[in-house]
Amino acid sequence: MIPYRFEGEVVRGFGRGGKELGCPTANMDDSVVQNLPESLQVGVYYGTAMLDGEKYSMAMSIGWNPQYQNEKKTVEIHLIDYAGGDFYGKRLSAVIIGFIREMKSFGSLDELKSAIAKDIEVARRGTVDQNKL
Ligand code: ADP
Ligand code: MG
Repeated sequence: MIPYRFEGEVVRGFGRGGKELGCPTANMDDSVVQNLPESLQVGVYYGTAMLDGEKYSMAMSIGWNPQYQNEKKTVEIHLIDYAGGDFYGKRLSAVIIGFIREMKSFGSLDELKSAIAKDIEVARRGTVDQNKL
């Protein structure tokens, strides 16, 4: 199932967390979520993503959305080293290359932040070679 390729539109999430945590996540539209293969379980993944013809390493989560009583999945992508503005409504294409970890809840905001920083480092390392292609 991995590598898994998909493409979709960046939609608005609930603005909960992302930017405040220093880690904005581009939420993908429902078609991406609905077409996810069953075998891609909830968790944190890494890969590469293309926005406006530029390629970025990404850290990505597949998770359950608490705003929908955890019955709806979300696919959220953080573009590593992207320094531009918001890109709501744009198309993003991506390839998931590897699994980083399962989802879990953290005891504190600091623990969550350091887990995210670690995920980003893993994603960066995992995609070094791909970005040269
Ligand atoms: P939302 O709940 O609407 O998804 P976030 O706080 O998660 O809000 O911010 C996500 C938005 O931030 C993206 O849709 C995109 O427009 C913008 N953005 C800016 N920089 C990045 C980045 N490096 N990675 C992902 N999204 C980014
Ligand atoms: Mg988001």
